[in-house]
Amino acid sequence: MAEKFPESLQQKIEERLRFYEDLGIGLFYKNRNISVSNENAVPAAGAADLPPVYSEESELPKPKAKSESARAVISPAAVAQMIAPIAAESLFSSVDRVKDDRLLKIREDIGDCTRCKLHKGRNKIVYGDGNPKAQIVFVGEGPGADEDKQGLPFVGRAGKLLTQMIEAMGLQRQDVYICNVVKCRPPENRPPEPDEVATCSPFLMRQIDVIAPKVIVCLGAVAAKTLLNTTRGISQFRGEWLEWRGHKLMATYHPAYLLRNPPAKSEVWKDLQKVMAEVGLPLPKKGKPG
Ligand code: SF4
Repeated sequence: MAEKFPESLQQKIEERLRFYEDLGIGLFYKNRNISVSNENAVPAAGAADLPPVYSEESELPKPKAKSESARAVISPAAVAQMIAPIAAESLFSSVDRVKDDRLLKIREDIGDCTRCKLHKGRNKIVYGDGNPKAQIVFVGEGPGADEDKQGLPFVGRAGKLLTQMIEAMGLQRQDVYICNVVKCRPPENRPPEPDEVATCSPFLMRQIDVIAPKVIVCLGAVAAKTLLNTTRGISQFRGEWLEWRGHKLMATYHPAYLLRNPPAKSEVWKDLQKVMAEVGLPLPKKGKPG
């Protein structure tokens, strides 16, 4: 009989399984409906090989209905294998995380900013968060209600999804840098208006200049259009390598859009795998599971 593990962990695993399902990752489904013992739970490949992603050509069984995931009985050993990549030591752990004075200086320059009308409704300025020497910078649109309360970027539902995507890449949030085009929450979560973007975006550009990442990932149209100075729709260049001031730039969908359109998660995952390859992160293996 399989051992029990805490409900909170079970919930976390179920969320993670659903997330991988949305990304089109299928290994977990293969073993989902069987109870496995500690001895035979571990696939031949090591934990670092998980999660695999299959080529579009591969003929794999379709994922089972979501309701079946809740009934899955999986041993703690199998669980340990599943979440090992999440808990693994960061690939960028050797990167110096000392705060960069120049980022602090930009924050000081922003001060208690009233340069645009967004200051009127904000609680907290959401400057940015993460590794000042990150190889990857994620740029979103602007803070939402949760971010406005906490003063941190991407901490609401969309932020949780972004965190899952970062972890699926084999990273932790603290390995990357996350910020937005505007630092104050637009009312009713409307998109920032052109004058607000024009006023605030120079701070974003200074942040990116200081961090000097290898790759900028624009999350959504506002970030992409701001940095690329284009009016083209994001679907016209999403997933393509572009350039901003000598940095490679990839535009993909915003996590808030993915919450409304879960099928688009697999497209974003393809984009993120290109980013992983660019910064030298190991890609999930393709092909049929063992
Ligand atoms: S959005 Fe930017 S420019 Fe506008 S008030 Fe906030 S910090 Fe200042």
